[in-house]
Amino acid sequence: MRKGTGVFSRKRFGQNFLEPAWVTKVIRAIAPRSTETFIEIGPGRGALTRPLASEAAHVIAYEIDRNLASQLRTSGLSNVTVVEGDFLDVSGFFPATSHQPPVPSRQPPATVRVAGNLPYNVASPILFKLAELYAQGWPIVDATVMLQREVGDRLVAPPGSRDYGVLSVLMQHVASAERLLALPPGAFRPQPKVHSVLVRLTYHPPAPAVANPATFTRLVQAVFTRRRKTLANALLAYTAADRDGGAALTPAAAVQTAGLDPARRPETLSVTEFARLADIYASISS
Ligand code: SAM
Repeated sequence: MRKGTGVFSRKRFGQNFLEPAWVTKVIRAIAPRSTETFIEIGPGRGALTRPLASEAAHVIAYEIDRNLASQLRTSGLSNVTVVEGDFLDVSGFFPATSHQPPVPSRQPPATVRVAGNLPYNVASPILFKLAELYAQGWPIVDATVMLQREVGDRLVAPPGSRDYGVLSVLMQHVASAERLLALPPGAFRPQPKVHSVLVRLTYHPPAPAVANPATFTRLVQAVFTRRRKTLANALLAYTAADRDGGAALTPAAAVQTAGLDPARRPETLSVTEFARLADIYASISS
């Protein structure tokens, strides 16, 4: 029990349970269909799992909390497969854990949708994990996820805005983001200190495609450590590490080859411009 909350929950697992009054709105926004398979991240006590299971074909629910996973497994939902474990450790499609027999002889579905009221303490790693699984070929169509409002703002932020950063660029490269609902702290028990938003990420092949995804990721991460510097200056953060032979190319030369103004700030570059720049570094290292 967390002090003064009147509800048993584990803070380290980011447990803030959705209040019944909000469930219908969230499920309506997710809009499950009877033929669809869902991956739910963090089913908790099943607030979303039950309505999802009643509307969709199959729900595969990943829950890290052993007690909650066990309660859900024995709750008699025949089309819910509970996988006990950390979603961040997921690898194979669909994995078995030592606590759960392999997913029964179902064929992997042609497509899968993701839903979840995410644990806010690991929401960004989960978003990166989903992008990684998508890149590995998991047939993820979309992910409708509850997030801290500030994280949601970063997902939808356009270039040049205050919230535009690493998360914006790397997620917008593989998904379009849409804000669906805003929820106050009172929508959860215990109440979080922050406001929440429900966001849908609809995945697509990397747009534009990049020659070396690792170069693209490292370059974006590096230049945003100097987001208020000029682009040429910020690129020093990348080339200083001589990654991908970056030191063989001065930032000024890279920026010029990419057709960009060296006086611009990194935070003003579009995803396409980042991709162009990364491809220049990738081309000299190949
Ligand atoms: N879906 C429930 C609801 O809306 O009431 C619970 C949401 S609660 C914000 C987050 C849930 O994710 C908790 O049940 C927590 O135990 C689980 N969780 C936390 N970290 C996790 C992880 N790394 N992998 C899987 N589940 C996790």
